[in-house]
Amino acid sequence: MRLGYRLPSTASWRYLLPLDPHPVHLSQSAISSLTDIVLLVCRDTDAIDSLDRYSMACPALPLCGLAIAEAERGLPDINNRIRALMNKLGFGPDEHFHIRMTGCPNGCTRPYMAELGFVGDGPNSYQLWLGGTAAQTRLAEPFMERMKVQVGV
Ligand code: SF4
Repeated sequence: MRLGYRLPSTASWRYLLPLDPHPVHLSQSAISSLTDIVLLVCRDTDAIDSLDRYSMACPALPLCGLAIAEAERGLPDINNRIRALMNKLGFGPDEHFHIRMTGCPNGCTRPYMAELGFVGDGPNSYQLWLGGTAAQTRLAEPFMERMKVQVGV
């Protein structure tokens, strides 16, 4: 998890700047509790599976009115399945790639530049994108249409 801060000394608002996709505006009262969370996450990164650490999903269902598939609630299950497969194939626990998942083709978490992207195109159905880079400097390419994935919610 990579985070950045922009902290104007005179402002009562601060901006949490995830490197992608959008800045989050924070009130002063939210900062101390958020700081605790960030410190906790940063301290315990070794305890978090590297697939989870380098993954991102949009809110999708039930929070986004445009969502037609699960994303935030479905990605942990997908990651668990990918990790189980990687274990079976002999990959080490630190092996990972960057996964992005969205609940519709708008692509708010930039699945079109991820190493592995899931773009929701219907209930339990995703377009699969492959071939982006960790730094999201290259466009991925569509690999599979309407891949059926039952996500556990
Ligand atoms: S990608 Fe689609 S479902 Fe996800 S937050 Fe953006 S608009 Fe909503």
